[in-house]
Amino acid sequence: MVGDFSPADMAIRLTPKFHASVARVPGGTKTERSVVDKRWDLLHLASAAKSVIADEVTLAQHQVFSRNIENFIGTVKVPVGLAGPLRVNGVAAQGDYYVPLATTEAALVASYHRGASVITLAGGCTTMILSEGVGRAPAYAFHSLIEAGTFVQWCLANTESLRATAESTTRHGRFKDLSFTIEGNHVYLLLEFTTGDASGQNMVTIATQAVCDFIAENCPVKPEYFFVEGNMSGDKKASAQSFQSVRGKKVSAEVRLSRQLVERHLHTTPEEMVDYWRMSALGGVLSGTIGVQGHYANGLSALFIACGQDAACVSEAAVGVTRFEVGREGEFYGAVTLPNLIVGTVGGGTGLPSQRACLDILGLAGAGQARAFAEVCAALALAGEISIIAALSAGQFAGAHERLARGRKPAKPDAGEAVETADR
Ligand code: NAP
Repeated sequence: MVGDFSPADMAIRLTPKFHASVARVPGGTKTERSVVDKRWDLLHLASAAKSVIADEVTLAQHQVFSRNIENFIGTVKVPVGLAGPLRVNGVAAQGDYYVPLATTEAALVASYHRGASVITLAGGCTTMILSEGVGRAPAYAFHSLIEAGTFVQWCLANTESLRATAESTTRHGRFKDLSFTIEGNHVYLLLEFTTGDASGQNMVTIATQAVCDFIAENCPVKPEYFFVEGNMSGDKKASAQSFQSVRGKKVSAEVRLSRQLVERHLHTTPEEMVDYWRMSALGGVLSGTIGVQGHYANGLSALFIACGQDAACVSEAAVGVTRFEVGREGEFYGAVTLPNLIVGTVGGGTGLPSQRACLDILGLAGAGQARAFAEVCAALALAGEISIIAALSAGQFAGAHERLARGRKPAKPDAGEAVETADR
């Protein structure tokens, strides 16, 4: 903290320093052992650190990483646990899924496992993919509002050419929509695409660059400057715009649990769960969250890391709405809707060895599986919401972490213990 140092020491610590730095990392996309060794040589670390990161299995298949990482030094091993089965009755996903979750957070897998198990005992959850689309938002600065308006008119008149230009860069990407935001003499275009089974961020960036190049060559209204992305697409950030529309895939999932299931397996009641949900929904509103949900980020980040999704996209994917009710027969009703599931089963990190293996565990690797994967994401989010809200409503939340993360027996039985007992 600032107060820990005298003003003189503070000035020394915080002033820029121009002496020669330690050696620069030999950069680039090369992944072979000799280059990896050079990078490790810089670190002057005991060989134990190198041998766990640059291990023999990793080095033997180093080439597969060359399109996914620069300045490669090996792989970090993240523990993977299996939750499930999670029964999904979806438009695209069908069946019982064992869900691989990569995390270092104790209690996470136990919690999702418990939610998945109770959903499966109830016959599964229903999931429905509602819409798809991935945007890029190039931004143009003109001299005047009049020029901005004329530019938009030109784009509208030439939409078919923009579409053809974009689609010439990809076999699977499809131009879906073009819309505009004018702010003074600035124009933000929103180009929206469907991206097949890829999550599609590279695909839409490449297509949008081609559109920008076409505009630069052909549009008579010349901007003072432009950028391929003006930070309006919602890439890697939660935004109200993406929440209200779609980024990636929008999916809803719902389940009904009988009162007996809730009491026997979750050790609470539908009424207590709804009491907690109502309180937490208002807590979300009062704190200004985008959407209202408990902890989508927990399950999504673990699933994204396991299955080669871009983990940074959890920032946009982990928004949505959770709603719990008591049904007419006294049963529990739960629903989640996630509008920003930006996921794929080809491209990105999905072809890397352990990530591909995790997609294989789900039976969802490769072409034709992205919609089912998105529905499994929503089903998993529902499992997590049910489990955490049951634990909180039953007062088991702290106990589960005390036992699973700290290895201590809590005073009250907890959620993790409950699921292990049920499994035996
Ligand atoms: P990608 O691996 O760059 O592209 C997907 C590739 O798969 C394309 O070459 C596509 O060919 C091909 N493909 C084959 N079968 C396909 C099928 N059935 N459906 C769709 N594509 C198929 O991946 P991406 O999904 O475009 O981009 C994801 C990556 O972008 C992530 O790793 C993420 O980290 C990164 N990212 C990039 C940006 C950015 O602005 N560039 C931003 C955020 C994240 P065609 O194109 O010919 O169809």
